[in-house]
Amino acid sequence: MRVYLDNNATTIVDPQVKTVMDPFFSQIYGNPNSLHAFGSESHVDLNNAMEKIYAGIHAPKMDSVVITSCATESNNWVLKSIYFDYIMNGKKDHIIISEVEHPSIIATAKFLESIGVKVTYLPINEEGLIEAKTVRDNITPKTALVSVMWANNETGAIFPVQEIGDICKEHGVLFHTDAVQAIGKVPVDVQSFNVDYLTFSAHKFHGPKGVGALYIKKGKEPSPLFHGGSQMGGLRSGTLNVPGIVGMGKAIELAVDALDFDMPDVKELRDRLEDALLEIEDTFVVTPREKRTHNTILISFRGVEGEAMLWDLNKSGIGASTGSACASEDLESNPVMEAIGAADDLAHTAIRFSLSRFTTEEEIDYTIGVVKDAVKRLRGISSSYAYTPKNHESAL
Ligand code: PLP
Repeated sequence: MRVYLDNNATTIVDPQVKTVMDPFFSQIYGNPNSLHAFGSESHVDLNNAMEKIYAGIHAPKMDSVVITSCATESNNWVLKSIYFDYIMNGKKDHIIISEVEHPSIIATAKFLESIGVKVTYLPINEEGLIEAKTVRDNITPKTALVSVMWANNETGAIFPVQEIGDICKEHGVLFHTDAVQAIGKVPVDVQSFNVDYLTFSAHKFHGPKGVGALYIKKGKEPSPLFHGGSQMGGLRSGTLNVPGIVGMGKAIELAVDALDFDMPDVKELRDRLEDALLEIEDTFVVTPREKRTHNTILISFRGVEGEAMLWDLNKSGIGASTGSACASEDLESNPVMEAIGAADDLAHTAIRFSLSRFTTEEEIDYTIGVVKDAVKRLRGISSSYAYTPKNHESAL
């Protein structure tokens, strides 16, 4: 059996999404900016897709949603444009991010630091959560931007973006949220709270890879990262990824519908997996269920190296993850476990299971059996885990 439980890294393209994309590879393939029928014949579908994308985050028409190549690009764009627009001219000198942002934020912030920008990295608490008051405590008159993700890719922890948005507004500071792990998991409505920029990416909600977006509030348009043509109102040049945009439109529509229809089932399966795994002795989950996305479990089995567990799971056809969604080949401890201050023996044992609306009960039951066997086997050969008959029984 093959079981895919790494949906925070990427998701299967929904067959309905693939169907709507298909004609745009070899039938309707003109460049939408060309002045002939080959070019213009995609316009209606492009417009419809853009309307769906706006609707998916409830963005008003006057604001912009700019299509990019991925969330990494959107995140780089926001941080680098803040440097060009507010910091390079000496008006501001500081940005605030959390210490558990995706590498596309952390690495960009570190780059900005290397050219003189002051960066504050907000800590998470013992539940893996950001506390909004830490934002207030760190804002200075020179702060240009706060960037805090909506939901964490490792734990699924949901951060208080509404409160953070309010604090930013109170202090006249721009607010960006990386909502990559939020779309399709929590209702995302950019009109319901104060947010200037919001990043998302189609391949995390059953759309195609290579297409992301940045929501930009009117009047907060950043300097472009890519200069060139007039696409996307000149904010992001480059020939439009027509199949990608059409696919993203369909995918976000389905993801928002799934919030009501599929989320309860996904949550039930997630809880079934989590309940069964927590029966194993010496097993820990950091963030309480009600404070995280409904599809994610980051779980530590004391004495079981995450990589060894991945190996066993992989041999049995199960795909899960140990580290950052995009860097699962790194043999490093989990960054969130490190940020919580977990001891080394736990930081190295975290395994992330992330489900989707395509996950089945049969797959979950199979996974429970495989994980229990793997814990028993790996603890049996672990030099750091003290074997006791009690441990042995609980892993059965
Ligand atoms: N932000 C978060 C929270 C993510 O989980 C990821 C991917 O794992 C990204 C950004 C990067 O997304 P993309 O692959 O579209 O660049």
